[in-house]
Amino acid sequence: MLISVPVGTRSIKEYEHIVDEGIIEKIRQLGKDMEGVRILNISSTAFGGGVAEMLYTLIPLMRDVGLNADWQIIPGSEDFFTVTKLFHNALQGMDLIITPEMTSTYLKQNENNADLFDGVYDVVMVHDPQPASILSFIDEKGKKTGKWIWRCHIDLTTARPSVWNFLEPYLKQYDAAVFTMPQYIKNDFWVDKIAIISPTIDPLSSKNIGINQEMINSILERYHIDVNRPILTQVSRFDPWKDPLGVIDAYRIAKEKFPEVQLLMVASMATDDPEGFHYYEKTSRHADGDADIHLLSNLEGVGNLEVNAFQRASQVIIQKSTREGFGLVVSEALWKERPVIGGDVGGIPLQIINGKNGFLVSGSEQCGKKIVQLLENPEMAREMGRFGKEHVRKNFLSPRQLADYMELFNYLYQSN
Ligand code: UDP
Repeated sequence: MLISVPVGTRSIKEYEHIVDEGIIEKIRQLGKDMEGVRILNISSTAFGGGVAEMLYTLIPLMRDVGLNADWQIIPGSEDFFTVTKLFHNALQGMDLIITPEMTSTYLKQNENNADLFDGVYDVVMVHDPQPASILSFIDEKGKKTGKWIWRCHIDLTTARPSVWNFLEPYLKQYDAAVFTMPQYIKNDFWVDKIAIISPTIDPLSSKNIGINQEMINSILERYHIDVNRPILTQVSRFDPWKDPLGVIDAYRIAKEKFPEVQLLMVASMATDDPEGFHYYEKTSRHADGDADIHLLSNLEGVGNLEVNAFQRASQVIIQKSTREGFGLVVSEALWKERPVIGGDVGGIPLQIINGKNGFLVSGSEQCGKKIVQLLENPEMAREMGRFGKEHVRKNFLSPRQLADYMELFNYLYQSN
């Protein structure tokens, strides 16, 4: 067996007072139509990053509305995850000369994982490139049942042909594919069904649920952060695409005008991202001993509740990505009524309406200036925060994504 991930429970009823009624009704109807349908999700990690974050909510909700849903992760050697991170980087536009050793490491692991795969499913959704070629081996071994979906969470707009051309034949074996934005679909990519579904956040998770000021203060105190001075926060894996060095440069610009300002850079070290530690050190060197820059991670006990508190304690949230499939953290921050300054890339413009709930920027200098503007205008920042929360409520909360997935599952199940 692949590795089964235990998830908690959730009830769709709890979302009734948060999202629009029509979405809940649609989910309930689809649940009735698909009672007992067997769904499996396969991904590469149960910890760190947006995919895991979403599955911890979506799997229990699928179960709650009648589906027989499961989530399994693939095992992988360190070499394998190093190769898949290189692939990930190349798919987001970084140069890579792909070697036979890399492809062999990637395919061998997927073949081994296909040996571990068992069970009969109606719909299987495979997330991202790490486990993508597993289907080809499962099919070869005569173990394929039901319809298979490849769910791509990354920004493919500038994918390097070397890696894309290598992966594409494996991806074309799927019955369906899901992308976050239409511009991520390559011109010559073709499977029977393509859906565009954007990610969502869970308003009831410990990361997003309302918490009181007392709790926020006590968490910040634990990390020696001064609640009485302005706080800027970026919550992101330490990864070149999240531009942690650029965030520090923008903070330094703001610091000239607001010497009191503090910067929190919060990261979780994902098990499928070996680059994280290297980038952490690089960021730490760039911070150059500045006592007002706090580099925090799960290694210091930062979990969901802490991220929640840091976001709520911030005057401004930054997400200065240079590539971003979607960027769940943007919606997480908007939900907390905070203005967000984000890179004008990938899925970020779906979430930030420039000038309404934050600003879209393309460089550190522009980012620094926008931080200053927001710190100088707290009333504008508050107004943006209010707008941001409603934008997320309408578009980026879990029930909407659940409904979209169930619609796709139903379409594929009916065409079985
Ligand atoms: N995250 C976290 N702690 C951290 C860093 C990130 O819990 O220290 C979470 C973050 O809150 C979000 C997810 O990891 O839910 C990151 O998703 P996103 O789509 O922003 O980026 P990805 O890591 O998938 O590229």
